[in-house]
Amino acid sequence: MPATPKPDALLSIRSIDKHFGTYHALRDVSLDVAHGEFVALLGPSGCGKTTLLRCIAGFLSPDSGTIRIGGEDVTRLPPHRRPLNTVFQHYALFPHLSILDNVAYGPRRHGVPRGEAVERAREALELVGLDSAAGRYPRELSGGQQQRVALARAFVNRPKLLLLDEPLSALDLKLRKRMQIELKHLQEKLGIAFVFVTHDQEEAMSMANRIVVMNRGVIEQVGDGRAIYTRPASRFVADFIGEANLLPGTAEGDAGVRLAVGSALLPHLGADTRQRYTAVLRPEHVELLNQPEAPGLITDQGFVEDVIDTGGQTVVTVRVGEHLLASRRLGMAGEGLNPGAPVFVGFRPGHVHIIAEPATHR
Ligand code: ATP
Repeated sequence: MPATPKPDALLSIRSIDKHFGTYHALRDVSLDVAHGEFVALLGPSGCGKTTLLRCIAGFLSPDSGTIRIGGEDVTRLPPHRRPLNTVFQHYALFPHLSILDNVAYGPRRHGVPRGEAVERAREALELVGLDSAAGRYPRELSGGQQQRVALARAFVNRPKLLLLDEPLSALDLKLRKRMQIELKHLQEKLGIAFVFVTHDQEEAMSMANRIVVMNRGVIEQVGDGRAIYTRPASRFVADFIGEANLLPGTAEGDAGVRLAVGSALLPHLGADTRQRYTAVLRPEHVELLNQPEAPGLITDQGFVEDVIDTGGQTVVTVRVGEHLLASRRLGMAGEGLNPGAPVFVGFRPGHVHIIAEPATHR
């Protein structure tokens, strides 16, 4: 990550730390968000996503570090003086105001004349597909519709940056999936940068241009979904994003890294001489073979540990020595594979991603 702000960044966060008493909730967090970008903050519960979002919004003040928006240092500015808006999981619409007035409320408070405020509110409602509901009241709308009103209200003032804290998590799964697509399209149409908190990796993968993976107050990796999945920067990221077989590897001098399964030698990452490595192998890249060798594959022998057939896909877990290796196939592929049956596993060297372990792992 660059140490100096990118000149064209809309949001530039530098070396933020935040403590709650003795608890270190954010550690040296730096991040740039470009104009019009959709960035997801992703990580397990308690990793600091909301704390980071609240620091950007101004509801929390970092102990140290700076936050700039559009080049202006906003670190000590109150929320309402920042050129952004926030959508929370539990949005609160005014029950006694019509949908139109709920959305027009923001511009009115900013001194926009009523006629113009109403016009802007109508445009915003049209964008979220709710123009026909303008005269109704919040209690007359479904949860998904209410969430759309909350969104319209958040962007009616055309902020440069919209912060969203798990805005879809209160919706049922089907509606949530639909809203993910809608929200993504809306963001592209508006061209407003979104910073979106979620603990749902599928949600992050399907919506964001870039994903920020957090763990225990630290940013572990920033990248697009594909990069994070195929080239995880740490054991934590490999394990948190999707399913992963994590196998130990041992450095053998300049020769390479010796894998625990298949005992193949794979090349080093640069000149790194650290002794401990983890090999990441995704289950869809592990093939089951009925012969000990196959061209281009690293192979080994094992025994079926278990077979889980869910109709759409089959996961076969194979014990190879002391290691377990999951192999995933589409469809029903577990026929004839019973626990205890001997089987060969194979994978391509190019599908193995090697991670060097830090000297002291967090
Ligand atoms: P979740 O997905 O569960 O919302 P999160 O990643 O958003 O998790 P945060 O809400 O940022 O996590 O919290 C990070 C850590 O800081 C947690 O351990 C939490 O208990 C702690 N924390 C957050 N706010 C406060 C507070 N006001 N006072 C004390 N501790 C806090």
